[in-house]
Amino acid sequence: MRDNHLHTHYSYDSKARFQDYLEHYSGEIVTTEHFDLSNPYSKQDDIPDYEAYSQEIAALNEGYGNRIKKGIEIGYFQPRETDILAYLENKDFDLKLLSVHHNGVNDYLDEEVADMDKIAVMTDYLDRLEYAIGRVPADVLAHFDYGFRLFDVTVQELETFEPQLIRTFKKMIAHDLAFELNAKSIYLYHHEELYRYALRLVKELGCHRYSLGSDGHVLEHFQLGFEKMLQLLAEYGIPKTEIINLN
Ligand SMILES: [Zn+2]
Ligand SMILES: [Zn+2]
Repeated sequence: MRDNHLHTHYSYDSKARFQDYLEHYSGEIVTTEHFDLSNPYSKQDDIPDYEAYSQEIAALNEGYGNRIKKGIEIGYFQPRETDILAYLENKDFDLKLLSVHHNGVNDYLDEEVADMDKIAVMTDYLDRLEYAIGRVPADVLAHFDYGFRLFDVTVQELETFEPQLIRTFKKMIAHDLAFELNAKSIYLYHHEELYRYALRLVKELGCHRYSLGSDGHVLEHFQLGFEKMLQLLAEYGIPKTEIINLN
């Protein structure tokens, strides 16, 4: 099962090497490197070095049987939309994740966000997420819960956003984006109940594309929780054939 959300040193917050993953696993690898403009966490534009990334993959593919695919995790931020589109133009990625990581002031994982009003942060984030879909080309809607990873959110609390979540997931389906099961959110930020709720919604809305991603930045997190996530999909009656890039 391909891990569709993975980082290497081409992301600002990872030191992992392609070889770490390639030597651990015999199947196909795709890395989805951070592309975060106006990143409040690093206080800069974080842009993968596409030339270096492509060249290293081409070189490694010769020794590793063409097992490496190119990917990107697009951190959508509306004020920089033109720059995002300009970067993506004429570049070739096998997999593009769509994420919303920040609001221009804070990355949603910044420590200070944990002290803010939960409902206010969720409202701000979910508006940005709903808007982001369809603005840039993408294959997967990554970690729908990123904006409230730091919070203990009950299903009842999330349900208060249900009309907006339904609009958001309908938009995701209309744009042919896969729904991501993000292992870091589910198992490390303990949002399994929220993902169960979201899975029920997206399935009812007619979603037939799902993606499994560890969101790993280190080898230890590669394919994190994949067995459990497969069980989760099975529990909701979602066939394996609906998992994108199954191989
Ligand atoms: Zn992310
Ligand atoms: Zn990521």
